[in-house]
Amino acid sequence: MLQRAKQQYTNDEVLEIEHALDVAEKAHKGQKRASGEPYLMHPLAVACILCDWQMDIDSVLAGILHDTIEDTDINLEQLESLFGRDVAFLVDGVTKVGKARSGMRDLTTYLPGTKDNLSKLMIAVGQDVRVLIIKLADRLHNMQTLEHMPREKQKKIARETMEVFAPLADRLNMGRVRVQLEELAFRYMMPKDFARTKTLMDSRLKKSQKKLATVQREVEARLKDEKIEFEMDGRVKSVYSTFKKLDRLDGDIDRVHDLIALRIIVDDLSTCYLVLGVLHELFTPFYERIKDYVAQPKQNGYQSLHTTVQTDAGQIVEFQVRTREMHDYAERGFAASFHYNESKLTEAYKKGAIAKLPANLSWILDLQEAAAKASEHKKFDAKKFRMNLFKDRIFIYSPKGDIWDLPVGAYPLDFAYRVHSDVASHASGFKVNGVMKPFSYVLQHGDVVEVLTSKTAKPKAQWKEYIATNHAKEKLRMQLSRESRGMLERLLPRRK
Ligand code: MN
Repeated sequence: MLQRAKQQYTNDEVLEIEHALDVAEKAHKGQKRASGEPYLMHPLAVACILCDWQMDIDSVLAGILHDTIEDTDINLEQLESLFGRDVAFLVDGVTKVGKARSGMRDLTTYLPGTKDNLSKLMIAVGQDVRVLIIKLADRLHNMQTLEHMPREKQKKIARETMEVFAPLADRLNMGRVRVQLEELAFRYMMPKDFARTKTLMDSRLKKSQKKLATVQREVEARLKDEKIEFEMDGRVKSVYSTFKKLDRLDGDIDRVHDLIALRIIVDDLSTCYLVLGVLHELFTPFYERIKDYVAQPKQNGYQSLHTTVQTDAGQIVEFQVRTREMHDYAERGFAASFHYNESKLTEAYKKGAIAKLPANLSWILDLQEAAAKASEHKKFDAKKFRMNLFKDRIFIYSPKGDIWDLPVGAYPLDFAYRVHSDVASHASGFKVNGVMKPFSYVLQHGDVVEVLTSKTAKPKAQWKEYIATNHAKEKLRMQLSRESRGMLERLLPRRK
């Protein structure tokens, strides 16, 4: 860990890493993982993954410390005084994601119905996107060591990984991580299908490897003739996505044409198209399979040119052509954005190495801008890092860890009506983060709200002042009219 950190971070930063390792080691002393290893191995591995992804120093420190608040005697204040606000903020975010998840005890109750909620929640608690990236590193290591868990737990964790964490990685365009997570999850969810598909792929790959090498040499020679600078390598399709594709192709592996794709990486965008032209001259393209993800990037920001061709020998090969920047972004996605600061990005635009980012990802640019500014001033402004996605919404937790989103400016009563109108109608007070608060308290993002009820409490007309949402207003109006009707009935003499 330290060896690697030394190549990547400044001397001062390495000292901080040593400090964090010290603190984590003492805090986790005596704790063991399911494998029997000292617990410290886990946060250490997570931090290594984050180094691998070339994350910033604060993320790495938070990775080392990510389980201390949850599992040891260390508290947030201590972390803040030892490592500063930003690291404490990140560890707090990671802890909150974990808590909210364990609040949803039974997987079947929150999947797939509220899967969306979970993703939203993760994005919300991780308004600093680095929280999610740390969480992904945490999950990746837990998946890599899943063999030590009992079978039932394996299946549950694998399914959650497939349904929540892999899509999250995809959302952040962290393609390599998505594939790693899917591959591990698939193996534990459907071990037989995994083994069968793998065997099928291996025998098929053995057959085509030689022919593919010939194709590769042919292309290399031609590109050299054209004086094009390039790098080329082959990528093998993941077992999981091959399995999915086989399902659509009646299990016929010979029809999976992109089992291996040849990847060509060049300097700039115009060279990408040049290479595409060369390929189409050399071989016969399937025109309907040419995909220009540069002019039209995928939703998650993925950019590349894809084409499938047939060689004279009859072999069908897929090629992917992209710039170094596109490649980096496709592999590391959001994590790459911490590596690419603003000036590098602008440079990349100027030399035409990347096309525009799709509009729905323009917030990446905002982030990068903030990151670049933060590093200039050596001061990090967490607020600037907040994502725009849920700008007008706040997320409120119940003591059990369930989560609701409410508009900014909502009151505890809004929350109570959201949970259940009966609960709200008997509300006698509110505990926010364990402390009593008045009805007029304005909820803050991340508050844990407990509604205190009493049998004798009733909805009151003044409550209108402490309600911001239409939903709660409507419920209260109904309750009040029911209430007054009841009162009227009691007051009127009964006819016999
Ligand atoms: Mn962990």
